[in-house]
Amino acid sequence: MSNIENEHFPQLVPISFMKKVERSVPLSAQFIQDSIEYDEEFQKGGSIDPIGDNDKLVAPQLIHRYSNRVLFLPVKTCPVNCRYCFRKNEIHTKGFDDIFSENFSQTLHYLEEHPEIDEIIFTGGDPFSLNNNRLEFYLQAFSKLSNIKNIRFHTRYTTVLSKRFTTDLLNILVQYLNNFENLIIVTHTNHPDEFCSDVENLFIKIDSLGLKHLTQSVLLKGVNDNPEILISLFKKISSLRAIPYYLHHPDKVKGAMHFYLDLEIGRKIYSELRKSLSGWQLPQYIIDIPGGHGKVSAYNPETFRFSGSLISQNSSFVQYH
Ligand SMILES: *Cc1c(COP(=O)(O)O)cnc(C)c1O
Ligand code: SF4
Repeated sequence: MSNIENEHFPQLVPISFMKKVERSVPLSAQFIQDSIEYDEEFQKGGSIDPIGDNDKLVAPQLIHRYSNRVLFLPVKTCPVNCRYCFRKNEIHTKGFDDIFSENFSQTLHYLEEHPEIDEIIFTGGDPFSLNNNRLEFYLQAFSKLSNIKNIRFHTRYTTVLSKRFTTDLLNILVQYLNNFENLIIVTHTNHPDEFCSDVENLFIKIDSLGLKHLTQSVLLKGVNDNPEILISLFKKISSLRAIPYYLHHPDKVKGAMHFYLDLEIGRKIYSELRKSLSGWQLPQYIIDIPGGHGKVSAYNPETFRFSGSLISQNSSFVQYH
């Protein structure tokens, strides 16, 4: 297939992790390129900016949608190219982006001008693609802002390339824990096959160092669209002293529609989880409403007249299909 050579979002998986991928169908589905990604007919309905984040870009590296917290995007490079990535049409993996830009002064300026912001969420790409010096530079800069109380990192390195968490890196994180109320790592993980003893040891270590550790997962057709898999994933995570935080309904991403499943199917799966998971092991099932409406609960049967409709931030009804 010539299409599959498309360079826009090439296959990218670390060799060490590839051994796990080769042995596992749900991992292959997540990381190995498939020609269906380029099938126009199949990908109908998918969009390039599925959640409308780009409308909220307030500085070149900053997305501000919810008043108290911002997404900070210092780098576009990732340890892997997940085939379902909601930024797959924006992330370019040809080399590292220039992160030493004058852009950062605009970011700092915005944060100073907005005292309501108390949390900075490093995302990207993956923030741990930055080298330690650069990470320290940013942590140092943010620690000087009195309004910033919490620092969060969204990452996939913890499971995909756990070796990135060297003693040096962990020392930096622990050192900066003193400058903030919380330093939080949010690991992106979708399937129990992503774990092995190295990953498990890292999870236990993160907890023992006093860092908060949450996880987020994406519900994906052909990967984890099954209550048994999710129950075993969330039990695994909680046995390693992390807390399952979010289960995302998949976004409608151009080039990733083969992972998409209907909200009704997701709700049926989620309703099974409660029976076998304690409250603290059960992540919130959420959906990002397209068009920049933001995150809402995808499952709330207690709501008056639960109908399958979703209510957006400004309380208007959004019919979601
Ligand atoms: C998801 C998201 C956040 C983080 O939201 P939490 O609910 O605190 O995890 C922040 N900003 C934007 C734009 C987001 O999409
Ligand atoms: S790790 Fe996150 S940002 Fe990187 S490709 Fe996967 S989903 Fe996208």
